[in-house]
Amino acid sequence: MNNHVVKCEQCGLEYSRDFDSDIKEHRNQHKCWQAAQTMHGTMRTYDKRETEKQLIRRGLDNFSGDWRLLVVLYTNLMRIYFESSVSLHGYSRYKKHPKFEQFAAMLLNQDAWKAQCSKYSPLVYEELVKKFGVLPGIGEEDVYWRGEGVQYDVNSGRLVYVNLE
Ligand SMILES: [Zn+2]
Repeated sequence: MNNHVVKCEQCGLEYSRDFDSDIKEHRNQHKCWQAAQTMHGTMRTYDKRETEKQLIRRGLDNFSGDWRLLVVLYTNLMRIYFESSVSLHGYSRYKKHPKFEQFAAMLLNQDAWKAQCSKYSPLVYEELVKKFGVLPGIGEEDVYWRGEGVQYDVNSGRLVYVNLE
C-alpha cells in the first residue's frame, strides 16, 4: 500500500501515485499552496516549520541577552504558527485568511501569548503590540485562525464546515 507514497517537498502533502484521486488532490493542494505563497509569502512544509520551531524554543529556554532579540524570536514563532494556520485547510482558504500582521495581532490578544512574551521582560510584549496591535479572531485555547463557519469537531478530530459558501 505504501509502495508509491510520495511527499511533495514544496507543499508537504503525502500522497499515493497509485491513485488518480490522490494525484488530483495533490494537484489541487499544490495550486492553492502556490497561490497562498503569492499572497502571504513563503509557506514552509510541516517538517521545516517544526524544525524551526524547536530551534526557536531552544533559543527561548534560558534566554539571556537583549530583549530586542526576543521580539525577533517571537515574531518568527508567530510566523510559523501563521503558516500552519494557512495550511490548515490544504491552503484552500488562503484568500480569506488574515494577513500575517493581523494573525500576529490575534495571537497577541491571547492571555497565553501575553504571558509568554512577557516572561523575560514586559517590554517584549509591549514592542510586539506596538508592531502588530491586538485583534480578536483566535480563541483563547486555539493557535489557528479557523474563520467563520468552521468548527473543530472533537469526536471526529476533523474540521466541520458550517455555512461555508
Ligand atoms: Zn505539492
